[in-house]
Amino acid sequence: MLLILLACTSDLLVVIGPPDSPLDTSEEDHTGTSPDTSAPADTSEEDLWSITVGPIPDALAAQMEGTTMHDGCPVGRDELVLLQPAHWDMDGAVQIGQLVVASSAAASLTPVFEALFRAGFPIRSMQPASAFGGSDDASMAADNTSAFNCRAVTGGSSWSEHSYGSALDINPVENPYVSGSLVLPPEGADYTDRGDVRPGMVVDGDAATAAFAAVGWGWGGQWSSLKDYQHFSESGN
Ligand SMILES: [Zn+2]
Repeated sequence: MLLILLACTSDLLVVIGPPDSPLDTSEEDHTGTSPDTSAPADTSEEDLWSITVGPIPDALAAQMEGTTMHDGCPVGRDELVLLQPAHWDMDGAVQIGQLVVASSAAASLTPVFEALFRAGFPIRSMQPASAFGGSDDASMAADNTSAFNCRAVTGGSSWSEHSYGSALDINPVENPYVSGSLVLPPEGADYTDRGDVRPGMVVDGDAATAAFAAVGWGWGGQWSSLKDYQHFSESGN
């Protein structure tokens, strides 16, 4: 590497290197003789985990209007954020998902998605429900993982926890809503036998239930009146 050091003034040192070999002035240990045990670096493989949290972009807000967002909804755009966590898909590839959640839920969901990623838990699809016209049936049938959707609770008229952005449905086909003989989505009928554990299924004690339990979120798979295996929420409802 060619380095040119120029002492421009008595108190300013400018370091110039070739453009294709950026200088790393923050890394002090290039020799391996002084390991920093307080922050061990894993150089054996690239860490593919990432997550971003930001305001709802204008284009997404426009898509949400009239689909997942309506007059009279309990929360507005300013109380929601776009969470974009890395996740594994069903083919073992890393994808960047999009999830609309309550601003107040982002801090809890960040370690949850990191735990799911570290555990290799696969998620088929993660797009806002507005990409499905706000249709929960269509989102579930596509096995899409989503959170915010201002709608009534399934089988009722009160606001679903999804209306607040404080509930999340994971892999709805592998984790259907089961109430008596009703299975939603219908495509989830092959997954009502919860003892036959297949990729993407959420079962008691696994990485998903442990990660949500660690931040105090409840799981619909533990309800007694019915089972909503895809559903996690901050309130437990
Ligand atoms: Zn749900």
